[in-house]
Amino acid sequence: MISAERRPATAVEPDTQALPILFLHGIDRHYRQGDVTLEILRGAELAIWPGQSVALVAPSGAGKSTLLHVAGLLEQPDAGEVYIDQIATSVLSDAERTRIRRIEIGFVYQFHHLLMEFSAIENVIIPQMIRGLSRQEATQRATDLLGYLGLKDRLSHRPAQLSGGEQQRVAIARAVANAPRLLLADEPTGNLDPRTSEHVFSALTQLVQASGLAVVVATHNMDIAARMDRRVTLKDGLVVELD
Ligand code: ADP
Ligand code: MG
Repeated sequence: MISAERRPATAVEPDTQALPILFLHGIDRHYRQGDVTLEILRGAELAIWPGQSVALVAPSGAGKSTLLHVAGLLEQPDAGEVYIDQIATSVLSDAERTRIRRIEIGFVYQFHHLLMEFSAIENVIIPQMIRGLSRQEATQRATDLLGYLGLKDRLSHRPAQLSGGEQQRVAIARAVANAPRLLLADEPTGNLDPRTSEHVFSALTQLVQASGLAVVVATHNMDIAARMDRRVTLKDGLVVELD
């Protein structure tokens, strides 16, 4: 458990009863590039509560992807602790970390990373079946999710037969297929035109509101950032609250 004193002062806490679903504490991350060490994160603190939507707005190269990868247990920090739902993840085995990543966390990337040889619905069914759901249950949930995201007439299309915006909506459906508690989206509309981008984001926000999921979205789009509950940026390796 995280005691109240350890909660970072920068965070807005919407519900005093709730504990953060994600707590990054004293995170350092550096990369060695030849003789130079790039210090990307230096003691970064960030807490996200269930149901919160947070925009991570920072220039290219600031460390947004690094922060999301650390938060999503895809990369280990050089120092500090990542708590997912109060669990300190640094002391876990790789298998336990993988399990938390599969169950608690959904990830959406700038490029969709869908399985190209499978249809839209199969892309959303497969992670659920890996998790242990029956094909019938997984198909039902995939149909509901894709329908919710405006893709009910695209279920059997393969990714190559979908537009960029449709591909990203399938990627969102896949990321939330196993009902994670935390969704991390790394410039999910970075490749889309403004109108499509708006469409994808509306779908994402509705889904977040309907499910009580917490979401962190790295984005350059200020209109989108303005609609999130909080906006944060990266400055000198720290997460800083905007507004
Ligand atoms: P952003 O997502 O905000 O554009 P990144 O987190 O991708 O930024 O990268 C932050 C900085 O760290 C960049 O300068 C990038 O070149 C560097 N970087 C990222 N990953 C690596 C790596 N694996 N090895 C070396 N440098 C890296
Ligand atoms: Mg990035």
